[in-house]
Amino acid sequence: MIKPDAVQRGLVGEIIKRFEMKGFKLIAMKFFRPTQELLQQHYAERSFFPALMEYMGSGPVVSMVWEGLNIVRSGRQMMGATNPANALPGTIRGDFSIQTGRNIIHGSDAVETANKEIALWFAET
Ligand code: UDP
Ligand code: MG
Repeated sequence: MIKPDAVQRGLVGEIIKRFEMKGFKLIAMKFFRPTQELLQQHYAERSFFPALMEYMGSGPVVSMVWEGLNIVRSGRQMMGATNPANALPGTIRGDFSIQTGRNIIHGSDAVETANKEIALWFAET
């Protein structure tokens, strides 16, 4: 998911391009501003952080489903560390962000998590 700060900064194309160039396949995409209810479900164990909820709800996001061999592991490597100060140059967070509270991209951390997150973010409403 491309977070609100990346949308606002005009990084949507750059981020999508990296996954496309790597060879992954985009199979679903949604552009909308998530409700607090959705964010609380997504960040269940972290939803007590008001700053995180405010940040993630501050504008539209781009939620995507990417498909390909080892997509979760490779996707996490392409994103870089949670704290951009630790994210290597060449990673998305390493190249375009500075601090954890504005780290521009979310990625599922396991296939099981991805399945849950896809069901949540792409639920029919
Ligand atoms: N986060 C934060 N402060 C912290 C830890 C996490 O603001 O000290 C936010 C940050 O946006 C991060 C998200 O919470 O991306 C989820 O945290 P997680 O540890 O799952 O990192 P990620 O999987 O995004 O690398
Ligand atoms: Mg995580």
